[in-house]
Amino acid sequence: MTAFLVGAGPGDPGLLTVRARDLIARADVILYDLLIGPEILAGARDDAELIFVGKQGGGAQVPQADTNALLVEHARAGREVVRLKGGDPFVFGRGSEEAEVLRDAGVRFEIVPGITAGIAAPAYAGVPVTHRNVAAGVAFVTGHQARDGADLDWDALARFPGTLVFYMGVRALERIAEELTAHGRPADEPVAIVERGTMADQRTTHATLATVAARAIEVGVSAPAVTVVGPVAAIGLQLQWRELRPLHGRRIAVTRARAQSSPLAARLRDLGAEVVEAPAIRTRSLEAELPMLAGHDLLVVSSPNGASELFGALERTGLDARALAGHRVAAMGPGTARALRAHGISADVVPERAVAEGLLEALADVPVASALLLRAREGRDTLPDGLRARGVAVTVVALYETVAEPLEEETTHALAGVDWITFTSASTVRFLAEAAGGLPAGPRLASIGPATSAALREHGREADLEATEHTPDGLVDALVDHG
Ligand code: SAH
Repeated sequence: MTAFLVGAGPGDPGLLTVRARDLIARADVILYDLLIGPEILAGARDDAELIFVGKQGGGAQVPQADTNALLVEHARAGREVVRLKGGDPFVFGRGSEEAEVLRDAGVRFEIVPGITAGIAAPAYAGVPVTHRNVAAGVAFVTGHQARDGADLDWDALARFPGTLVFYMGVRALERIAEELTAHGRPADEPVAIVERGTMADQRTTHATLATVAARAIEVGVSAPAVTVVGPVAAIGLQLQWRELRPLHGRRIAVTRARAQSSPLAARLRDLGAEVVEAPAIRTRSLEAELPMLAGHDLLVVSSPNGASELFGALERTGLDARALAGHRVAAMGPGTARALRAHGISADVVPERAVAEGLLEALADVPVASALLLRAREGRDTLPDGLRARGVAVTVVALYETVAEPLEEETTHALAGVDWITFTSASTVRFLAEAAGGLPAGPRLASIGPATSAALREHGREADLEATEHTPDGLVDALVDHG
């Protein structure tokens, strides 16, 4: 039996150590704190027991004694216990007290350091905690005592030749600033407060010791935040990067099927958005049989999912990509073309506009006698009708259908609070409206193209933005351009 005291880093799941991630993935029991985000806990086994043992200023509290008891109890029962703490477990985290309890109980333990907020949050605000010729050292200080009136050695702190980083100091800001100035720090010394550092909605406020208390009230600073005092704080004005990302702080919901949402979600996150995954739909294979391919001089694949269904259908009959040799293949858009390429097929026709009308245009000069359309059951008739009007014999085979994915209550709630909801197809609109009991009134609506916008209109709403290029990337570009 071993208990692991593990630092989870300051918030950004990417700042988890490899060791922490491995331990989270194998733990039987995880005791976690308030600031541990769902994305980090999502790495746990489905059958792992997740127990919240956080402390929240003023809110729900799990007494430290209960946490200690749980740690020992689960470890003694032979379970692999991970005690997951924000930042580093030994920096103002009471990790050392928990280690003492484990030692006294005869439970073996390991410590896994994490990136502490006092370094990570400033770094994400462009503030280096040391800088040659400017700050030769850094002190991590708890603002906790300052708040309760108990005393820090203000004289020593003021004389410290370097940067001061205060944790837990939001309610003590005024006192910190006053004492440091009274003990000799210049009133115009730069201060940076970084709230929710490394998280999607990180915010940095710059001030000086003279102005910081008023400034903090003005902008409504709240925990968790670290306060950096020293000349390095001003460097953040030059080196800021995180908060400059084009979608920083924007909360954006992705409604497409979970299986397809990740590239869109990842791109939005890379640009700084906080993504709420609210999959409204899911695709279900119809296990369709393909007709004889010979005799069709054009195969049209309507979506990336259609591409994987096509190869699934081939495989079921003992065939592979060679069955498509000699056929002209058209893809509805670049995503579909990519999916085909992953199976070794380069599409011959890919329209510039990833909609049925665009594909019809792209096929205008292509000689076709007989086309086989592979698509979703509920696909639109624009393409088959358009081809038939040109005298093409058209066979439509539905390879999959789109079905509703029920939303969890939590997700419905989160949806109401986002800035944007993105819709990548008409069915995401319909099924989301169904699952959420109508389209939420607050968020703005971003549509991938005209068919999706029309579906929004059917629900009494106008798209606030429609992508010029009707692809997920086009939708992202439109969100960025919207500013
Ligand atoms: N063990 C943690 C600190 C726990 S004390 C660590 O090493 O980071 C809690 C305090 O840490 C908060 O009051 C706040 O001052 C700071 N903190 C934790 N996460 C933070 C974050 N994401 N951004 C800014 N400050 C944070």
